Amino acid sequence: MGLIVQKYGGTSVGSVERIKSVARRVVAAKEAGNDLVVVVSAMAGETNRLVALAEQIAESPDERERDVLLASGEQVSSALLALAIKSLGFKARSFLAHQVRIETDRAYGKARIKSIDSRRVKQSLKEGEIVVVAGFQGVDQDDNITTLGRGGSDTSAVALAAALNARCEIYTDVEGVFTGDPNICPAARKLDRITYEEMIEMASMGAKVLQIRSVELGMKFKVPIHVRSSFSEAEGTWVIEEDKTMDEVLVSGVTYDKDEAKITLLAVPDRPGLAAQIFGPIAAANIVVDMIIQNASAAGTTDLTFTVPKADYKKAVAVVEGMADTIQAKGITVDPKIAKVSIIGVGMRTHAGIAARMFQALSAEGVNIEMISTSEIKVSVVIDEKNTERAVRALHKEFIERQAAL
Ligand code: ASP
Ligand code: MG
Repeated sequence: MGLIVQKYGGTSVGSVERIKSVARRVVAAKEAGNDLVVVVSAMAGETNRLVALAEQIAESPDERERDVLLASGEQVSSALLALAIKSLGFKARSFLAHQVRIETDRAYGKARIKSIDSRRVKQSLKEGEIVVVAGFQGVDQDDNITTLGRGGSDTSAVALAAALNARCEIYTDVEGVFTGDPNICPAARKLDRITYEEMIEMASMGAKVLQIRSVELGMKFKVPIHVRSSFSEAEGTWVIEEDKTMDEVLVSGVTYDKDEAKITLLAVPDRPGLAAQIFGPIAAANIVVDMIIQNASAAGTTDLTFTVPKADYKKAVAVVEGMADTIQAKGITVDPKIAKVSIIGVGMRTHAGIAARMFQALSAEGVNIEMISTSEIKVSVVIDEKNTERAVRALHKEFIERQAAL
C-alpha cells in the first residue's frame, strides 16, 4: 500500500482493448488501497508515425514544432486511459506535462527534466482521483513543449516517483530484464534483480527495456524500479542499489549492438593535439563516438580506430575528410558491418580473469576480436557482424548457463 507510479509503454496501450485492460489493472491496484499516478506512452507506432509525417514536410523539421507534434501521441493515450478508468466507475484525471509542470531544459527532442511541481498531482490524489500523466513530454521555462527523447516516458515515470516519493513500476511487453536476448539464447532467463549501474550498461549496450536516463535518475534518487509485463501477473526485474550478495554473480547479462560502424584513420602523424583535432569537430557535428583505439606508433605515425552510430558514419567520414590537410592520414577505411558484444556484471569488480575467459570462449568459436574496451563492470568487443549470434550464444553459455549449473 502507498503511492505507486505505474508506467505503461506503447504496446500496453496499443489499442482500445489494451487501454481498457490497463484501466482494469490500475483500478485493481487502487482497490487494494494504493494511490496511483499512471504515466503513459503513446499508442504503439504512433510516435514513429508522427516522426514520419514531419519528415514528409521537411527533411530536418524545425525542432520546436517537431516536439509539439510528437508530444500529441501521449496526449491521446492519457485522455483515453482516463476515460477508460472513469468508465469503470473510478475518479480519474489526465494531466499534460505543462499542467503538472514538468519543467525541462530547452533541448528539443532530448530535453532533461529540471524540476517537477507536484502540487496539482497531490491535490488530485487527495480528492481520490487516479492521476494519469502524459509521458515523454515536458515544458521549458518559456512554456514551449519539449520531449525527452525516444523511450522518454520511462524517465517521466521515474522522475515523478522521485518527486512524489513513490514506488515505480514500469509495465512493458516483456517479463523483465533478461540475461541475454531470448531470440538468440533460448536459455536466457529473467533476472530477479539488477543494479542501477548494470542496467545503465545493459541499456547503452543495446538492451532497450528502459531509457538510460530513467535509470540514472533512479540511481540518483534511489527509486527502486520494478520492470514487469503488463500482460501477466508475474514479478518482473527489480532495478535497485547494489547489495553485498550481488557481486557473487560474475556476469548478469550478455548484450549486443549492431548499430555502430567502425572508422579507421591509417598512419596519422603521432603528435600532441591530433586526437583533439580529430574528435573535436566530430563532437561539434553532434556525433557520439563510442570506442576509440590508438595503436602504438611506428615511424612517427599511428592508426586510429573508433566507432560511431551507424546512422552517423557517413557524416563522420565527411567531417574527417574535410580535415584531410590537418590530419594527413594515409587513408580512411570504414566498416559498417560490425557488432559490439558485451558482458556486464558488478561481480567483475572483485573477480579477476573474466576478460580472459571471454576471449577464450570467443576464440573457441573462431570469432576474431577487432576491438576491446573495458570498464569496471563491463567488457566489450567489436567483432564482424555476421558472428554476432554465435558470439552471444557462446558467452551466454560460458557465463550464465555454466554459472547456473554450478
Ligand atoms: N512515445 C515515445 C517513444 O515512442 C516515448 C515512449 O514511448 O516512452 O519514444
Ligand atoms: Mg520503452
